[in-house]
Amino acid sequence: MERNVYLDHAATTYVKKEVLEEMMPYFTQSFGNPSSIYKLGQENRKAVDLAKERIAKAIGATPSEIYFTAGGCEADNWVIKGIASANQKKGNHIITTSIEHPAIMNSCKYLEKHGFEVTYLGVDEDGKVRLDELKSAIKDTTILISVMFANNEIGTIQPIAEIAKLAKEKGIYFHTDAVQAVGNLRIDVAKIGVDMLSMAGHKFYGPKGIGALYIKKGTRIDNLIHGGGQEQGKRAGTENVPAIVGMGKAIELAYKDFDQHNERIIALREKLINGVMERIPYVKLNGHRTDRLPGNVNFSFRFIEGESLLLMLNMKGISGSSGSACSSGSLDPSHVLLAIGLDHATAHGSLRLTIGDENTEEDIDYVLEVLPTIVARLREMSPLKPMKEDK
Ligand SMILES: *Cc1c(COP(=O)(O)O)cnc(C)c1O
Repeated sequence: MERNVYLDHAATTYVKKEVLEEMMPYFTQSFGNPSSIYKLGQENRKAVDLAKERIAKAIGATPSEIYFTAGGCEADNWVIKGIASANQKKGNHIITTSIEHPAIMNSCKYLEKHGFEVTYLGVDEDGKVRLDELKSAIKDTTILISVMFANNEIGTIQPIAEIAKLAKEKGIYFHTDAVQAVGNLRIDVAKIGVDMLSMAGHKFYGPKGIGALYIKKGTRIDNLIHGGGQEQGKRAGTENVPAIVGMGKAIELAYKDFDQHNERIIALREKLINGVMERIPYVKLNGHRTDRLPGNVNFSFRFIEGESLLLMLNMKGISGSSGSACSSGSLDPSHVLLAIGLDHATAHGSLRLTIGDENTEEDIDYVLEVLPTIVARLREMSPLKPMKEDK
């Protein structure tokens, strides 16, 4: 039986029907500029404000602390560059981790070329930051700590509240890239005590090209995009109203029936993890066993190559992603898998499957039927295949 099984929800998601329906009028009928004073403009202003309220409510913020961006990458860039620029008199040191998304990693690399110093903390074998290491990395010149909420590759959830507490005690700004966490985990920025938090609409069944940055009131941050006075003068550009409306609706839906939905996704994840471990030898689960994103599964299969595995899964209608940084067009193994201590060969044999809304138990059954055969076939062809003494 041939199926189409999409298991790459960490890369992006489809747009929910209710989300699209709410967006549609803002393309053709209600197309006004939110900055215009006539009715068509003001309708759009209201739509933007409602979206802000929904997002603020979902994460425990106030609406005036939500600023729209063109996605997760822009929000991340804004934090790193904007905090560095606004606080350079205070210090030039930033602490982040070695498993961040390229949006954080490469913004930090950029700053290193402009007189800033960056500490990239290592992680343990589950992908967690060690608090004592973080503590000893803090200097008098540290102005920002940025640690992702949950990792996009291996799903590991960080001790965000503890990190936030540490940062607060030292008077250092704390940012978390929560692009994978928003919609999938309960988040309360006030309770956790974060100063900035990034999110992106397309990771929780909203449209692509829209994101938001939560900035706690009173945070000293410079603009990334200069121009007009939109977003309280902090982010210029005519608002992408349809996308903003979609993101607002999507976040509202994500936290409706949240527990029930999450239980279902976690049950599918456990079925997939246990099924693979039972059926396939020489396999390692990457990421923390329980402190992980509800839909994240990441395996390393020894003696095979992730790219070939992906191609063969694709021929069977299964969409996943590998541990190679294929986004950059290179075949270097993922920096995240290397950071948790995998050797290059093992990292190369990695497969990430991320479960979402539309997946069913039948989808998981199908993967469990197809994957062992494919892995066995690839190992047969592999020059690295297991020898008897490996047993
Ligand atoms: C997807 C993702 C981003 C980038 O978001 P875009 O909307 O694609 O720019 C940043 N950080 C993490 C953790 C992500 O998963």
